[in-house]
Amino acid sequence: MPQLRKDPIVDRWVIIATERGRRPSDFAHDPVRVDDRSCPFCPGNEHMTPDEVFAVRDGDGAPWSVRVVPNKFPALEIEGGLDREGVGMFDQMNGVGAHEVVIESPDHQAELCEMPAEQIVKVLTTFQHRVEDLRGDPRFRHTVIFRNYGSVAGASLSHPHSQLIALPIMPQLVRAKLQAAREHYAHKERCIFCDLIKQELDFGDRLVAATDYFVTVSPFASRFPFELAVYPRRHCHDIVLATEEETWALAHTLIDILGRMKSTLDNPAYNMIIQTSPSIRPRPGRPDYWGTIEMDYHWHIEIFPRLTKMAGFEWGTGFYINPVAPEEATQHLRNSRRQAVAS
Ligand SMILES: [Zn+2]
Ligand SMILES: [Zn+2]
Repeated sequence: MPQLRKDPIVDRWVIIATERGRRPSDFAHDPVRVDDRSCPFCPGNEHMTPDEVFAVRDGDGAPWSVRVVPNKFPALEIEGGLDREGVGMFDQMNGVGAHEVVIESPDHQAELCEMPAEQIVKVLTTFQHRVEDLRGDPRFRHTVIFRNYGSVAGASLSHPHSQLIALPIMPQLVRAKLQAAREHYAHKERCIFCDLIKQELDFGDRLVAATDYFVTVSPFASRFPFELAVYPRRHCHDIVLATEEETWALAHTLIDILGRMKSTLDNPAYNMIIQTSPSIRPRPGRPDYWGTIEMDYHWHIEIFPRLTKMAGFEWGTGFYINPVAPEEATQHLRNSRRQAVAS
């Protein structure tokens, strides 16, 4: 019998339809392959990108190991005022924002799940720097960090990279999470994410990996097969505040779970999104708007392998059909590491 499940945070229903009994090998897709063309992100081609806004170097004059440049084809542009206006019943404003590319390694062939932890730490530290810097701009309310891996997931270049977009408005999905977290805290004086982590640790059947610092689960109401969520164990609303120990631990967790995903699902395309606190600048007329965010919100990472396609039902309802139960996905992902270790 298919099951309807509701995400307790964003009130979103999904259909878990396991009748189809699909195994990891049943999701036909072309595994992501890194092409060997040189590209604008490769060392030596720096002139092909806009001027860098940030870089990690091991010393003055040393070559870069992580480099941040504005996106050459930005979704939003950095210059200009917001110019909000109403046009009849419609709202519009200028497409102001920041759109940056984080080039994660000088090595075109590098795969995130095979990079040395030290390199991933540099990338994570770069995210922290850039988010903090973009928060200094009062026009931006929220910065989203995301990684598209493989052309199916929207990556147009195979050189390892992530992107940041700073937005002048709060995205709907982020707002839903923030509101749910605030309401839960108002009722219970507890963080809804901490409650969820505790429950998943106790229950265990959706627990893919747990270290002293991070917990990776298959969400109860996963929209997509093999969807994952990574939570820091320490309550904290903002990735910018992650400690050095935590960034090292996160690097190891990413190597572990992305490696499991790669071996279980034959290197699928995926999207990875880092959900962190928005800019908590007091808003005119709502001085207490962010009053409890440090207690109520909990930064986290979402990962979706791109194995299924959205169809009419999903587009028309916002309801997703997931053919793999999260508990079953967890089993496959756990076993994959055992096999990898054994071989
Ligand atoms: Zn390259
Ligand atoms: Zn928490």
